Amino acid sequence: MSLQNSPFASTMSSNAERLLVIYTGGTIGMQQHAHGLAPSGDFESRMAVAFTQLSLAQQRTLPPYDVLSYSTLIDSSAATPLIWQKLAQDINDQLSAYAGFVIIHGTDTLSWTASSLAYQLQGLDRPVVMTGAMQPLEANGSDGLENLYGALQFAANPALQEVTIYFAGKLLRGARAIKQHSESFDAFTSPSYPLIGERVDDDFVYYSSRSLGHHQRGAPRFELPDYRSVNQGEVIRIVLWPGINAWQLDAWLSDPRIKGALLQLWGAGNLPDDASLMEVLARASGEGKLLAAISQCPQGSVQLGAYAAGYGLSDAGVLSGDDMTPEAAYTKLIHLIAQPLPLEVQRQRFLTSLVGER
Ligand code: ASP
Repeated sequence: MSLQNSPFASTMSSNAERLLVIYTGGTIGMQQHAHGLAPSGDFESRMAVAFTQLSLAQQRTLPPYDVLSYSTLIDSSAATPLIWQKLAQDINDQLSAYAGFVIIHGTDTLSWTASSLAYQLQGLDRPVVMTGAMQPLEANGSDGLENLYGALQFAANPALQEVTIYFAGKLLRGARAIKQHSESFDAFTSPSYPLIGERVDDDFVYYSSRSLGHHQRGAPRFELPDYRSVNQGEVIRIVLWPGINAWQLDAWLSDPRIKGALLQLWGAGNLPDDASLMEVLARASGEGKLLAAISQCPQGSVQLGAYAAGYGLSDAGVLSGDDMTPEAAYTKLIHLIAQPLPLEVQRQRFLTSLVGER
């Protein structure tokens, strides 16, 4: 890996004030290739060229930064738990050298990476701001420049001490965000948690009262487990559909390679009135598999057992994911299962808010 000095990096600034921009790929850095848009390199100088389009007053507010460009740039649809692990490791390795981090990432799985980083970087005491764009940086009217500029502004605010996503003028908690639109610039939302910051004219306003509680930040206590085994497919996600059969659920859950599953039920936590479905779930949790449930509705939470149609889920060992996003619930299962923790501790931690994700 090579760190390149930005032309905007002031020689007067100490590393304690500098930011590290980590470029992983995504549309923002893509260029047209024979088979369509594909990730392209030389991002550091392209970013510097783009910044010349800012007003001089804005250019003067740019914090000093270095750029770390990954040697393999990806469309984020190719991201895996191993990429999440590498990002967390790189931030950990560079922590003492930088005051904040900006991660440039494709939008498709950006909220998954953000959620995973939040669990790995618990106790984070400085900003990690993820961003990307819906259009390549050089495209006419691209959102890339504004997103980069805003991400750098928030990453330079030491009061921000968590993993966030800055997109289209909004700062969202990473472990609360979802991608809500495949085309609009306003592509991300946080359905169950308010914005933790936003751009108002040329100000970048941070709502500190919505920040993580003191016990959830303050001093780094990173958990950087080895994700290689979970990367082999130990955790699955099953979104129920009307007419699902018990044998289908069983085909997933009885596989000995499966260690955990996220179930997306209906409404407040309902599933078909079919005792054999519940038997499959009870058998899987009896075998020590970590099962958790959230709703298919993007807003609201699950209340297991509120309806007769969800009765028995808790007895079958299924954990409530409350109002967590699929991203936050799934990456939490990955994070807990990757660690050598007793099942009871994994269950208890799943039910606890670790980074403001529930
Ligand atoms: N497919 C792209 C990616 O996630 C989409 C984007 O970046 O907006 O990498």
